Amino acid sequence: MSEHVDLLIKHAKYLVTVNGDNEIFENYSLAITDGKISHIAPTSELAHLDATQTFDATNHLISPGLINSHTHLAMSLLRGWAEGVNLQGFLERVWAAEGAIMDEATCQLGTELGALEALLSGTTTTLDMYLNPEATHKGAVRVGLRHICGPIFFDFPGLDGLEWHQRIERAQEWSDVMAAIGGPYIPTYFMPHSTYTDSPEHLHDVATLAATFKANIHLHVSETQAENDDVRSRYNKTPTEVCRDTGLLDLHTIYGHGVHLSDSDMQILAHSGGAVAHCPGSNLKLGSGIAQFKKMIASGIKVGLGTDGCSSSNDLDMFSVMRTAAHLVAYTGTPSDVNLTQIIRAATADGATAVGLGDRIGSLEIGKEADLIAINLAQPHLTPVHNVEALLVFAAGRGDVTDVWVAGKQVIRNKTSTQIDTQDLITRVNTRIQVLEEIK
Ligand SMILES: [Zn+2]
Repeated sequence: MSEHVDLLIKHAKYLVTVNGDNEIFENYSLAITDGKISHIAPTSELAHLDATQTFDATNHLISPGLINSHTHLAMSLLRGWAEGVNLQGFLERVWAAEGAIMDEATCQLGTELGALEALLSGTTTTLDMYLNPEATHKGAVRVGLRHICGPIFFDFPGLDGLEWHQRIERAQEWSDVMAAIGGPYIPTYFMPHSTYTDSPEHLHDVATLAATFKANIHLHVSETQAENDDVRSRYNKTPTEVCRDTGLLDLHTIYGHGVHLSDSDMQILAHSGGAVAHCPGSNLKLGSGIAQFKKMIASGIKVGLGTDGCSSSNDLDMFSVMRTAAHLVAYTGTPSDVNLTQIIRAATADGATAVGLGDRIGSLEIGKEADLIAINLAQPHLTPVHNVEALLVFAAGRGDVTDVWVAGKQVIRNKTSTQIDTQDLITRVNTRIQVLEEIK
């Protein structure tokens, strides 16, 4: 008797599950029904399925979509805008440009651009911190990305012009705002920018509010030594101690960066069940330092990978981030320290756990939401395949991703968006950024 499914991905050369046993299957098929993975089995065992659509994956590797656990998508409009500077110089350059262009419509436009780049690169989920999150979310959902965002908090009014009480009011309405926009499921997040832009009193307010709304927390922590020194001089604490003492770590909290965490900081964060988004490309480019990827994992911290914004990392390429993370493990230790499974998990299943979605996405398992990507293996640089994990981390690149599904919906087909007109988007972006010529 036949059984109906929405999509059958047939005969994958490799199916990289990233399940609990990190199984990699050969010549397997996977079916999707109602946005979720309904079957995973050798192709011959799924002959009875009656599929609305079929994808022939004979020459493909199928893997979970990548999870970018720290980025600022709208900053894709500032790609290449701040070069040859450290974090402080970077912020000065970027804040001037943001002041000139980042109204709500432009935040939405920049996020459409970033979201499309992410999807074309095999990234299906981003944790995105930026101004005007309602507008950014509309842009990302339009393009089809699973886009985690949230209200952001600064002590000062900032570019969005919001006073503190207005930020709190926005946060109270946040769940309704997200529900009205729709899109793939995301958890609720509140995003205070950092312990150097938000006072301990304000961070405590955010923590209290987040507890009420069962929100997760995302903020920048210990990105540079200068940040640690600044926070130490103000409060005689590390940024992590500030997070702990203001109640943020009572909630699920994921740090952006965590480059300069002490052993004690790591213990505090691990004890709280917290997570870090490791952003090696951005950290190297800005000379911020090298986060201790393996040590953080060994201490019990959940570690995901991120690109950071395009103004510091220049792209949203998670394959490049995986490779850089692996290279840094070898460089700071020995090549035998590189655990490819660990790198891939950080970009998928462990990244999902880090952003609070471990029960829904990040692996190819029956019952999980169908966020997955197809990589074309029939290319010289991906031949032969002696080691599938080494292929993913060291040889494959974002240009090899051909097809992408988010919650079962195909959003990229043969390297093209099914949701928006790419050329039109590029034209709109190039028109909008002309105003930056005046402040160059
Ligand atoms: Zn950042």
